[in-house]
Amino acid sequence: MKKETICVHGSSYSEPSGALSTPIYQSATFRHKGVDEINLYSYSRLSNPTRSAVESTIANLENGIDAIAFSTGLAAITVLFENFSPNDHIIATEDLYGGSIRLFRTISQKNGLKFSFVDTSNLDLVKKSITKNTKAIFVETPTNPMMIVSSVSKIAKIAKEHNLMLIVDNTFLTPYFLQPLNLGAAIVVHSGTKFLGGHNDTLAGFLIFKDKNLADNTRIISKTIGACLAPFDSWLLLRGIKTLGLRMEQSQKNAVKIVNFLKTHKKVKKVFYAGLKDSKGYDDIKKEATGFGSMISFEVDSFDTVQKALKNFKMISFAESLGGTETLITFPANQTHGDVPKLERDKRGINDKLLRLSVGIENADDIIADLKQGLE
Ligand SMILES: *Cc1c(COP(=O)(O)O)cnc(C)c1O
Repeated sequence: MKKETICVHGSSYSEPSGALSTPIYQSATFRHKGVDEINLYSYSRLSNPTRSAVESTIANLENGIDAIAFSTGLAAITVLFENFSPNDHIIATEDLYGGSIRLFRTISQKNGLKFSFVDTSNLDLVKKSITKNTKAIFVETPTNPMMIVSSVSKIAKIAKEHNLMLIVDNTFLTPYFLQPLNLGAAIVVHSGTKFLGGHNDTLAGFLIFKDKNLADNTRIISKTIGACLAPFDSWLLLRGIKTLGLRMEQSQKNAVKIVNFLKTHKKVKKVFYAGLKDSKGYDDIKKEATGFGSMISFEVDSFDTVQKALKNFKMISFAESLGGTETLITFPANQTHGDVPKLERDKRGINDKLLRLSVGIENADDIIADLKQGLE
């Protein structure tokens, strides 16, 4: 089946009642017939039919053998990292989602894990960072907020040579545009809160696996920690994923128009978008993905312009998060990356003139009109 069809029919859930929409199994526990007749489901921390339906849909979309759904993206990453032991070393993309950096620098480090944050678009740097304790490479592409693209297949080759686990956070492109497991990654991570859910109304996270042992082991950790996705939220995800293809196409179409508008605006100094030919990693994303997504960052002429614009926007909401039907604008230096030390932020270009736009599925003309009046 093609991706659009998997989005709609993915789980192929068949309900005895004939219900077309997967029911919300709002039950904590499940009755067994006898000691020798234990039900497939027993307790919802371990598994739940509504959650299973969304897990098999996302596993299907990413071409994995299994997927686990979590209450948030960070819960998914936290559980995944419980597979590592003290002194294990992980190489991670330096321009990473702020919450992942906070997790790695606080809890993971306290648990004895060691990290090297490097520009993973630079393969020599990746290779040079490998030590005898290195166990994994954690890649985000395109990055947040600087939209730097790393080549999944090239890093997968390095990972394979050194027997490392390649983990890809695929939140920005989603399986609709990029399937990292097909390019050699071992695990895909998602914040389902973003494009997969797609409506800015629920939090969720996913891990998708290619290897059964790793999936089974992580399921035990997940059951032990208990950060699982609730039945109702699982249903919202199933509902959201049905229109993933339509939403990704529309928001990308809008993004291209907005990039063209921003490039000609006198107060806009730089535009960062993975689909720009002079963008870092353009040739790689062109080869590996079927789209560039709808995340844009741009630098304006002054902090004063930032302040005024964030007050002036009418339809565009000044709010954290991304990937929903509504266009959102964020100020990374203070919001998503507020916990990253200023010196480091400046080095990476996350300054007080940078704004990040998550383009929604409204009519592009209306988004551009609001940007225009806001930047006046
Ligand atoms: C939001 C986000 C996360 C964290 O997900 P939550 O659902 O907010 O916990 C991880 N990675 C990326 C790229 C994100 O955008």
